[in-house]
Amino acid sequence: MTGLLRGPTLWFTERTLVSRFITESSLGRRVVDRFVAGDDLEAGMAAARSLHTLGIRAMLDHLGENVESAAQAAAATDGYVQALKRIQETPDIDCNISVKLTQLGLDVSTEMCAENMERVLQTAKSADRALLVMIDMEARQYVDPTLHMYLGLRDRYPNVGVCLQAYLRRTRDDAHRIGGPGVIIRVAKGAYLEPPGVAFRTRREVRRSFAAITASLLARGSVVHVATHDPALIQGAQRFIRNRSISNRRYEFQMLYGIRRDLQQALVREGEPVRVYIPYGTHWYPYLTRRLAERPANVWFFLSNLLARGG
Ligand SMILES: Cc1cc2nc3c(=O)[nH]c(=O)nc-3n(C[C@H](O)[C@H](O)[C@H](O)COP(=O)(O)OP(=O)(O)OC[C@H]3O[C@@H](n4cnc5c(N)ncnc54)[C@H](O)[C@@H]3O)c2cc1C
Repeated sequence: MTGLLRGPTLWFTERTLVSRFITESSLGRRVVDRFVAGDDLEAGMAAARSLHTLGIRAMLDHLGENVESAAQAAAATDGYVQALKRIQETPDIDCNISVKLTQLGLDVSTEMCAENMERVLQTAKSADRALLVMIDMEARQYVDPTLHMYLGLRDRYPNVGVCLQAYLRRTRDDAHRIGGPGVIIRVAKGAYLEPPGVAFRTRREVRRSFAAITASLLARGSVVHVATHDPALIQGAQRFIRNRSISNRRYEFQMLYGIRRDLQQALVREGEPVRVYIPYGTHWYPYLTRRLAERPANVWFFLSNLLARGG
């Protein structure tokens, strides 16, 4: 979905009544279960294993964002260190992780967040085969600090990558600045509510930006994670890759847990590298609201059930 319905949908999901309904009702739990693997790391690993049997790679996301204390940031870091060790014990499964800098304390202190990130990256590097640590991109006020932190780390840690959001008007320039041979970049449309001066509004503009950024990163030798469920963008990327004979070590198609499983498997059948982003943990509400905002049908489903129950 482009920005048009994202605002009203996020407003709707922020209402107390709605958040209570979603977090406390069995219907709400069923929807959460569609998008979130479960409450703990073992649930994330179980999802990774079942995707592995389908030929799909995994990326674990320990849910959480915008922590407000050093203790919370340390706990989130511990969670990721534990996840990395668990992945290292399971070498048959192709799995990496994705982190949010605000979960590692970016709102509390940049220095502390950098230290937490170093701990995560050191752990990821300590295996025979270094595990990839991707940095999610969050709302617009975090783009500069996130890219700054990423650029400060990547010379020492070749196993770090970052997400760029195609809906931001600035991203083509960012991609030009940070892209290059071997640099690992995830391209996603972007999931936050941003003002029109900052972000493209229409589906057409966002698609055009996504396609242009993906093509320019691939052309310049970057490793590109094409993170979308949009068939038009996937097919466009496939054409570009085929025309340029780009090796399948230089790209992956990535999708979110529970979304377009049919498309994930169709791509695997075509021989494409596919990875699924698997969120787990108990702090799932903000993640879920973004997934609801991407598809108004998800919200109308809730609304009609709320009304049927007399609000
Ligand atoms: C691996 C991965 C990592 C991501 N990381 C980030 C990040 O770090 N920062 C960030 O801002 N965003 C991130 N995103 C989210 C992304 O920005 C989009 O919000 C999201 O992928 C939906 O956009 P789309 O490209 O799938 O296209 P859309 O046009 O939104 O969707 C295309 C089709 O996919 C299906 N679909 C998409 N979303 C849903 C849904 N929620 N429920 C049901 N069906 C759906 C529908 O069939 C829809 O028609 C990530 C996405 C992926 C796949």
